[in-house]
Amino acid sequence: MDKKFIDDSKKYLMNTYNRFPIVLRKGRGMKVWGSDGKEYLDFVGGIAVNCLGHCHPRVVIAIQKQAQRLLHVSNLYHIEPQIRLAKLLVENSCADKAFFCNSGAEAIEGAIKLARKYAKDHAPHDKYEIISAHGSFHGRTLAALSATGQEKIRKGFEPLVPGFKHVPFNDINALKESVTDHTCAVLLEPIQGEGGIRMPSEDYLRGVRRICDENRLLLILDEIQTGMGRTGKFLAYEHFNIKPDIITLAKGLGGGVAIGAVLAKEAVAAAFQHGSHASTFGGNPLACAAAEATINTLLEDGFLLDNCRRTGKYFFDKLETLKKEFPSGIIDVRGLGLMLGLELTKTGGPIVEACAKRGVLINCTSGNVLRFTPPLIVVEKEIDHLMDVLEDIFERLLQ
Ligand SMILES: *Cc1c(COP(=O)(O)O)cnc(C)c1O
Repeated sequence: MDKKFIDDSKKYLMNTYNRFPIVLRKGRGMKVWGSDGKEYLDFVGGIAVNCLGHCHPRVVIAIQKQAQRLLHVSNLYHIEPQIRLAKLLVENSCADKAFFCNSGAEAIEGAIKLARKYAKDHAPHDKYEIISAHGSFHGRTLAALSATGQEKIRKGFEPLVPGFKHVPFNDINALKESVTDHTCAVLLEPIQGEGGIRMPSEDYLRGVRRICDENRLLLILDEIQTGMGRTGKFLAYEHFNIKPDIITLAKGLGGGVAIGAVLAKEAVAAAFQHGSHASTFGGNPLACAAAEATINTLLEDGFLLDNCRRTGKYFFDKLETLKKEFPSGIIDVRGLGLMLGLELTKTGGPIVEACAKRGVLINCTSGNVLRFTPPLIVVEKEIDHLMDVLEDIFERLLQ
């Protein structure tokens, strides 16, 4: 049965993903099931998408109700769930206005356009350059990959969109020196995700904010992976005592449904006027109803953010213990809340594969960093189970 699916998958789909030979059919909470009935404990969570766990009843019911009422209307009209969602995001962030799209890369595109337009409206000369960081990831569309600070993502797609510069993450002087008269914005992930769960060093983001203020640059924070409670706060910037001018969201925003958002301060948002930007499906009733239910659940259910902090800390400490046990195989433990990374001395692929065989799904990024982004409902017992599995596998594969 699985073999037939997998053969057809290879025959009919473009070869863009190196997929595991697993067909997933059903999910509930922390668990997913394969088409062969095999049960998995899911520490990937759609890579920080399934923040409430799989098929959270509140999200499912909101989708069912909305699907019966209204699936799609054009943005030529006002849309109830879109307005309510914008209000929720504004009331729970430093931003004043929202624009909705359908994915992370699209949110980045919107943020880039907004920053350029704002500079065009306000600067006496040409300001368009955006500085981002080495090791960053901002998506796969052409401008988003031009902003991405990883050669392997950009290679083969040249010529890239002009106007992007990259500096080492956590190097405040390199950033300062790269600012020119043409710079309009700095674009950063508060914690780098795809780049291997890289934390900002103490005071880095505050230093970045200061440089932006001194040079009249916009600070764009890409919270596509760090947002939606992932780090223990609704948005990750809240940990660092700064306020960005533009925020991008996607991944966890719809609790599993495709939706992205660009949030901005009032003065910045004003650069977009009628006709400046648009998206047919952006902010459609169905996706917005799912996102509204997701945010309301995240914020009303006192358990989730608290659990993310508490269980995230428990998880981090367990990884530290594992590091002590395998000092020659583990280089580092990093992360915040339930966005955690374990850097290994060797490639993580075989370990991810061995975990899947044992019924535990984890991810590896940057070649050798095991990444854990489980639903925010994960409990200690499930982490203990993951640790037992990892310990067994490390004894075989990491000695
Ligand atoms: C996943 C991700 C993106 C891209 O999102 P897509 O929905 O895949 O386009 C952009 N930025 C960050 C930080 C991400 O983690």
